[in-house]
Amino acid sequence: MTDLINGLYREGEPIQDTKAPGGPIEQRWTKRRFEAKLVNPANRRKLTVIVVGTGLAGGAACATLGEAGYNVKAFCYQDSPRRAHSIAAQGGINAAKNYKEDGDSVYRLFYDTVKGGDYRARENNVYRLAEISPNIIDQCVAQGVPFAREYGGLLDNRSFGGVQVSRTFYARGQTGQQLLIGAYQALERQVKGPDNPAGTVEMFARHEMVELVIVDGRARGIIARDMSTGEIQTHLADAVVLASGGYGNVFFLSTNAMGCNTTATWRAHRKGAYFGNPCYTQIHPTCIPVAGDQQSKLTLMSESLRNDGRIWVPKRAEDCTKDPRQIPEEDRDYYLERIYPSFGNLVPRDIASRQAKNMCDEGRGVGNELLEVGPDGTERRVRRGVYLDFVEAIQRMGKAAVEAKYGNLFDMYAEITGEDPYQTPMRIYPAVHYTMGGLWVDYDLESSIPGLFVSGEANFSDHGANRLGASALMQGLSDGYFVLPNTIRDYLASGPYPAVDSHHPAVVEAQENVKARINHFLSTGGTRSADSYHKELGQIMWEYCGMERTEPGLKTAIAKIRDLRKDFWSNVRVLGKADELNQSLEKAGRVADFLELGELMCIDALHRRESCGGHFRAESQTEDGEALRHDDEFCYVAAWEWGGENEAPILHKEPLVYEFIELKQRSYK
Ligand SMILES: Cc1cc2nc3c(=O)[nH]c(=O)nc-3n(C[C@H](O)[C@H](O)[C@H](O)COP(=O)(O)OP(=O)(O)OC[C@H]3O[C@@H](n4cnc5c(N)ncnc54)[C@H](O)[C@@H]3O)c2cc1C
Repeated sequence: MTDLINGLYREGEPIQDTKAPGGPIEQRWTKRRFEAKLVNPANRRKLTVIVVGTGLAGGAACATLGEAGYNVKAFCYQDSPRRAHSIAAQGGINAAKNYKEDGDSVYRLFYDTVKGGDYRARENNVYRLAEISPNIIDQCVAQGVPFAREYGGLLDNRSFGGVQVSRTFYARGQTGQQLLIGAYQALERQVKGPDNPAGTVEMFARHEMVELVIVDGRARGIIARDMSTGEIQTHLADAVVLASGGYGNVFFLSTNAMGCNTTATWRAHRKGAYFGNPCYTQIHPTCIPVAGDQQSKLTLMSESLRNDGRIWVPKRAEDCTKDPRQIPEEDRDYYLERIYPSFGNLVPRDIASRQAKNMCDEGRGVGNELLEVGPDGTERRVRRGVYLDFVEAIQRMGKAAVEAKYGNLFDMYAEITGEDPYQTPMRIYPAVHYTMGGLWVDYDLESSIPGLFVSGEANFSDHGANRLGASALMQGLSDGYFVLPNTIRDYLASGPYPAVDSHHPAVVEAQENVKARINHFLSTGGTRSADSYHKELGQIMWEYCGMERTEPGLKTAIAKIRDLRKDFWSNVRVLGKADELNQSLEKAGRVADFLELGELMCIDALHRRESCGGHFRAESQTEDGEALRHDDEFCYVAAWEWGGENEAPILHKEPLVYEFIELKQRSYK
């Protein structure tokens, strides 16, 4: 291990994904499935798997593992799996079906995803994702998911950013909801209850995992808090799966559901699971702009709107306060169409977001003026909004067709802003949306802790430095329905692992630590709410680790987060008791974890002195202001190991090898 680098981190041994087979890429997944050991159906009944999370990734895994005959213990913090954040997904799910005969193929989806991720994703994982994608659609159709259809009855497709084909399957603007109902039904079929005593899944809703249990170096269970009674419970198993979603809420304001948090993944990280590329965050270009400083949530307007909506700002700053309908065509700047003629409004999200910021920084933003304080303390008033205009689409297709395609999104916009988007253009601005980083996993989705598997947005695996639209649902369902059930069996078949009971010292220690932490929060008697710390952390993250990152800014952020975290531990005020429903206690635990993760994100962003995808280092850009990668130095996954309390984290580099796709500077022009 190296000495401290920049006073912030150490470098450990490089790591590798040892599970992906070699040979032609088209045959690797087939080969791995064949080579992975089998568990015979009678033995499956003797094995227990804990799955934390019942969104699309976790729900799909529970349903498939339960159907296969394993005992599954499923956990979620909502009152029902149907309320997972996955339900918010609007626009669609990608699959290489080539229904439109527009040149799509598994290989093209593979290529688009690697390129879209700015060449920072693993080829093996991405190819497998593309290969599995058609099966996902078949599975969901069989479950009855009502995908949109064309007049003739075939499933319809639309386009998302970063591609030139139509491969996105959708259910109006409610794709996530419909897919989740499909996964939920499949899961419910297996849930044990009075009507189904033979069910294989035990469902623990309103339970929050607050610690991972490791015995003899293997993940063997979790400590969970019953959120209704406050009871601290131990659950043990032969393997643990985390499907606990992303950590975008570290920014406080994001399009994620309010409850999304990092506790499951961060607790696992502290127990030895490496965190992959924590700084890779996706800022989505089409969100409703921030309206004031009392807001706690941002709303996404689906990327699907960029199929027909045109994005523009006034050419002249003095026109920015005018009614947009009064601004003639020649005075409008359709900047994405101008700068990127090939992809136009359908450039990938990182590029569309950065250009929206550039337009507003130039003084050509629209909407309310906001007061901004720069890193050097200077204040300025800026309008942070650009137009997303459907006038041309309404003229071309007719209002009824636009309504049929996007009606619920238009209604949502009107409800929130009080403006009618059929009459005046929508105003949009980028907002935090998705995290490409997550727990590091190998090809089997196994983390650096044996027996701990990670799926869906919680892992880092498939999207590199920028996720293409409609690819998160694809990955979550691919992991849950198809990958994990095939790879976890290899681990389970390598057992049996020695029986563990709740008196094992490692289990008792995990329980005691959880109780001590809760007692600390309840006895601090400080003056500030956990929410106020969260908000301040979010402001630091957005300012210094948001759409543009610089060396001095990131150093400032790290110092500020450290001060904030110190203050939090001595001054947070948590009301109520441990053994009751206590939302302020729940929040304190989540914010404590965000405060540690936020610092690691800034360290990761600081060490990566290149721009790639959503990670834009101002020091590393082309003459045109595009992200400039440095493949000679940074073509690797940064997998961070917890260094210990108040110790520097340890960086392990996993080199990225491109055998099939040539590394190039991305161009969407
Ligand atoms: C507004 C919006 C729109 C989107 N639209 C699209 C789209 O159109 N297409 C697309 O591909 N992607 C879209 N995405 C992204 C996509 O929705 C998510 O990446 C995906 O749904 C994540 O699924 P998941 O199963 O990994 O996690 P989630 O759906 O977030 O589920 C997490 C689960 O983990 C549980 N959990 C978490 N922590 C704990 C804990 N400590 N203890 C117990 N349980 C825990 C939760 O209760 C929940 O069940 C969108 C995202 C947003 C925010």
